[in-house]
Amino acid sequence: MNIKRIILASNNKNKIKEINEMLPNHFEIISLKEAGITEEIPEPYDTFHLNAAAKAEYVFNKTGKLTFAEDSGLVVPILGGAPGAFSARYAGQPSNDLNNTLKLLKELEDENERSAYYETVICLKGLDKNYFFEGRCEGSIDFEQKGANGFGYDPVFIPKGFNQTFGELDDSFKASISHRSKAVKSLIDFLGSLELEKE
Ligand code: IMP
Repeated sequence: MNIKRIILASNNKNKIKEINEMLPNHFEIISLKEAGITEEIPEPYDTFHLNAAAKAEYVFNKTGKLTFAEDSGLVVPILGGAPGAFSARYAGQPSNDLNNTLKLLKELEDENERSAYYETVICLKGLDKNYFFEGRCEGSIDFEQKGANGFGYDPVFIPKGFNQTFGELDDSFKASISHRSKAVKSLIDFLGSLELEKE
């Protein structure tokens, strides 16, 4: 079988493993390290789309190989969309999940409008144009941290239709409804349709 290799512009082993397991057999993910890129890739923009495209383009320009990059974060409309593309460093550098979450709780102190959503944007680079795939997970921000599962803002994020945070819910359940899995699913459907066209 002709295996098609795609670079994922990340060195996060969990993301790579999770996505590899979802991909059809004839696709295989290569990490940044395996592609020979060791430097940090800049994420200078204030939107997920621009950051995902910048990362995918950076890697494609260096390797010439089919690449996809993702950018994710938490969006809180009452805070004007913050922390958004700055989710990882909301409380400053270096990135610290606990400090970010505490800052979010402080910003929302005494606020009852607490809707929020996680968003993932994937950019696929190397075909005729850039292709984008999006996934959203709607929910709200709790008043205090609960549970230790997941990462980032999960101890305060309650997915819509539930009354526990992602910190309290199972990781595998989270994966089934997450923003990231929805975006990856759209990417996979697209890759599958490309292969069908060739046959
Ligand atoms: P990344 O682009 O997936 O590395 O995510 C950037 C930042 O967004 C993380 O450092 C977290 O603060 C936040 N984030 C993204 N996805 C999630 C999630 O599934 N749970 C909690 N926080 C997340």
